[in-house]
Amino acid sequence: MRDTAKHQGLRNQLANVLQAKGITDNNVLNAVRKIPRHLFIDSSFESHAYQDKAFPIAADQTISQPYTVAFQSQTLKVNRGDKVLEIGTGSGYQTAVLLELKAEVYSIERQHELFKKTSLFLPKLGYKPKKFIFGDGYKGLPEKAPFDKIIVTAGAPFVPKPLLSQLKVGGMLLIPVGDKTQIMTLFIRKSPKEFEKHELGDFAFVPMLEERN
Ligand code: SAH
Repeated sequence: MRDTAKHQGLRNQLANVLQAKGITDNNVLNAVRKIPRHLFIDSSFESHAYQDKAFPIAADQTISQPYTVAFQSQTLKVNRGDKVLEIGTGSGYQTAVLLELKAEVYSIERQHELFKKTSLFLPKLGYKPKKFIFGDGYKGLPEKAPFDKIIVTAGAPFVPKPLLSQLKVGGMLLIPVGDKTQIMTLFIRKSPKEFEKHELGDFAFVPMLEERN
């Protein structure tokens, strides 16, 4: 697949749609204008790539809806150089947005097929996280903690404690919590022991897969 002026036009339109839905962060909108989303999904869906919709990727998973990606990215206020842990690499689209925001990204994927596919694909587009990890997001990444930001892109049945404990003071965890639908929940670490919690509305994600023993 190629990236053409037509794709660029569709991306600009998508950015306008996201802006109309309340995305105001210009860095996030510019990332949407730049990243060739049609290359992240199966070619049979290519003509839909710039609609504000989720689509199937490999292994029964989905690439998140652009609005959701933009909302999570904007909410986390990602700054240049922030150390960010992403749970659920999936297609890598959210990873690419974080990299466009100049974060230092560690991305964990629980399904080997997706881990392999995306860790080969993203660098070909020039998107290079610090590390792709094949592993269990419920555990976070203790050896690289603490993080400025942690973003979870699958529906979590509960808030995994390790993710809270791997935040810097002042750091933020953004996680959709719930079974069928999820409440987007933001935790801000105020001190080693105190967290502020904000609930930011309903979203629908594929479920975060079981903890592995
Ligand atoms: N941000 C991705 C979202 C993909 S869907 C995108 O837009 O493409 C959620 C992803 O989380 C899937 O790839 C799924 O395999 C992964 N996932 C589910 N449970 C997980 C877990 N426990 N640890 C790490 N990744 C997990």
